[in-house]
Amino acid sequence: MSSPTFPPPRTCDQCGAVITGRRDKRFCDIRCKNAYHRDIRRITEPVTKRIDQFLHRNRTILYELWKDARKKKFFVSRTKLYKKGFRFKYFTSTYVNNQGKLYHYLYDFRWMEFSTDQIMVVKQ
Ligand SMILES: [Zn+2]
Repeated sequence: MSSPTFPPPRTCDQCGAVITGRRDKRFCDIRCKNAYHRDIRRITEPVTKRIDQFLHRNRTILYELWKDARKKKFFVSRTKLYKKGFRFKYFTSTYVNNQGKLYHYLYDFRWMEFSTDQIMVVKQ
């Protein structure tokens, strides 16, 4: 039985070849590094693209309304947002303030259901 080398040889994350050099090096060369990231992108993009488009569209809608309002905080009707194509179920995170109000974050904007039809939007 041969004794294993210690530390074990590091191998390229793409092709498995033994690599030497810096301890944090993960690929044998730039082609393997590019191929690795291209493969990851090819797998990830079909899953994330559609939702990313909804998020970006939502942000564009809020940005255009914010530009027209010329205020950091403004109100818009749910109906108006809906007609512009805003998709309420797509946001980047949520936050409940100390009064129990739920905020939906969308990148640098946050919005809250202020009343039945009024949405309060705040740009950060
Ligand atoms: Zn390689």
